[in-house]
Amino acid sequence: MSRRALAAGRVVVLLALLSAAPTPGAGAAPTPVVRIDVLGLFHPQTVELVAVDAVSFRLDRGGGPESVLPPGAAVTLDRNGGLVRVARARQLREAGRGCTVTPAVPDGRIEIRLANGFRRVFRGTVVVRPATAGDWLQLVAHRPLEEYVAGVVSAELGTAAPPAALQALAAAVRTQALRWRGRHADEGCDLCDNTHCMLYQGEENGAWAVRHVLEPLCDAVLVRGGQLAMAPFNACCGGAPLPAAWIWPGAADTGPVQPCDRCRENSDAVWTADVAGPDFLARIGSALGGLVPAGIRIEEPPGRSPVVVLTGDYGERRIPVEEFRIACGRTFGWNLIRSNRFLVRADGDRLRFTGRGFGHNAGLCLAGAVAMARAGAAADAILDFYFPGCRVVSRASTASSQPGW
Ligand SMILES: [Zn+2]
Ligand SMILES: [Zn+2]
Repeated sequence: MSRRALAAGRVVVLLALLSAAPTPGAGAAPTPVVRIDVLGLFHPQTVELVAVDAVSFRLDRGGGPESVLPPGAAVTLDRNGGLVRVARARQLREAGRGCTVTPAVPDGRIEIRLANGFRRVFRGTVVVRPATAGDWLQLVAHRPLEEYVAGVVSAELGTAAPPAALQALAAAVRTQALRWRGRHADEGCDLCDNTHCMLYQGEENGAWAVRHVLEPLCDAVLVRGGQLAMAPFNACCGGAPLPAAWIWPGAADTGPVQPCDRCRENSDAVWTADVAGPDFLARIGSALGGLVPAGIRIEEPPGRSPVVVLTGDYGERRIPVEEFRIACGRTFGWNLIRSNRFLVRADGDRLRFTGRGFGHNAGLCLAGAVAMARAGAAADAILDFYFPGCRVVSRASTASSQPGW
């Protein structure tokens, strides 16, 4: 896309924003609100909600009254069967089907504290209810789409990155969020806060500051063939990108991949891992369904995802590299097998992995985007490089601008 096209896009964005402004007597275009399942990985049994700013608290028990918590006040919630019990100042007060905490001032903050000491601050409404998936409490943060996007961008890239890189990532995040809406509908929310969807940490990492950097392109999404494009991003491709369609079979055509030579100076561009072979193979074999492998090799069939071949008495088991990397991440942590592009060789009873990049190697390379932005590239040029064949358009011009997203 050209700068002129981007400028035209900005006009569209501006018009869209103007048309969304409340007009007396006319219905304003709805702002999408994203419902994010937060801290679900902790399966919290008890949580403390602390009013950083004044908040309204409402217990859902058939029209109960609201109460206002002044700054510093806290309520403790715990699960009791199908109900949420509420205690304030350590006094058990009542129980209901759930509760809603809403800032009493614009963009007011609520801090969530877990029993293990973990804390996180959110702006906007937080709903607490019994989880349907287990015996813990489900916490759902409700945030306007743009605040959610800023939160993901700050969690993934922080505030120190150049504005053009932050804006390019925001367009990818916005596009993915819209494509994935309803992904967690069974759980009564839209997206989760971990890498299953995208990393979201509320107001940590300077989300509030990032929000203002994103303003110039605050409605941009990527489309391909008139549809929202697949727009994944990775920390660093190490100069070894993979087409998204290879990694996620069944994905729509994601277009060609450009060789990325922008991230080669990044500390994640090349990695090595040296492990005790028998222990590594036993643990990863167990994680992959009870295999007892004796050997490992990598194949890169032309036009398809790399495959990890685990050999043993059972013959050969071929594992797509993304599945293998995720299994390794859950088993050994994410810093061992760091990407989807690597080689392995046996040296005695050691296995030596050498790889390139950090993450799944597909889509927008964040290290490369930062390098391009530092060299003067604008967000549209970065998106054009990493998503060739896509167009950047205003969200308002797509079907995703309809009510209910
Ligand atoms: Zn998810
Ligand atoms: Zn790269």
